[in-house]
Amino acid sequence: MKKKLIAGNWKMNGSLVANEALIKGLLTGLGTPGCQVALCVPAVYLAQVHALLADSAIDLGAQDVSEHEIGAFTGEISGAMLKEFGVRYALVGHSERRQYHFETDAVVAAKAQRALAGGITPIVCVGETLAEREAGKTEEVVKRQLAAVIHTNGHCISEIVVAYEPVWAIGTGKTASVEQAQQVHAVLRAQLKAASPQADRIHILYGGSMNAANAAQLLAQPDIDGGLVGGASLKVPDFLSIIASAL
Ligand code: PEP
Repeated sequence: MKKKLIAGNWKMNGSLVANEALIKGLLTGLGTPGCQVALCVPAVYLAQVHALLADSAIDLGAQDVSEHEIGAFTGEISGAMLKEFGVRYALVGHSERRQYHFETDAVVAAKAQRALAGGITPIVCVGETLAEREAGKTEEVVKRQLAAVIHTNGHCISEIVVAYEPVWAIGTGKTASVEQAQQVHAVLRAQLKAASPQADRIHILYGGSMNAANAAQLLAQPDIDGGLVGGASLKVPDFLSIIASAL
């Protein structure tokens, strides 16, 4: 059976001093984790965090990757650049990118493709807004978002990670119930299985106010293969406790 994956998303938080303290605290308490662990950090801190994580059990992740390969795209960071800093994962299509940077399904799919081409595993985020859930459109929305990535990435699809993050649960303290989360994960699993015979190896993470108190229950669901953790990944005891519950 594949190990679960717990990925922290620092979002736009951190400083040189705070990052060092956080990572030293994590490495001190981590021991040999029973799951895979990654930290998706702001781009300017990739070099620092890469050095701090050297020879550790924690992988490095970025929070975005350009849909372009190279050239006149001011402010963008390519997959090849990320790779030079030891990046293993890149978030793509986080709801904050979709909402504030107007990233469409097509752009998210292109970013996933660029990440894969650069040897980086995209963590493709999908999820419905509260209005979409209340309108009964949850399945339609997440399937549409994932379909774009499947369509663009074809047989490489078994190389991605998917994160189901209901938008109404991100940073709000409102977690999806285990039933709500498992139901959507099962839908995504079926969609991936229809696209690839190797879909069982794909991690489908849950994200949205995962914390030390609710992680074990969520992670016990059959189709929840890990977590994408925002706020709680900034607190050493909370993140370590989530990691410990991912067996
Ligand atoms: C996220 O940023 O992906 C996230 C899930 O945030 P939080 O855990 O704070 O809800």
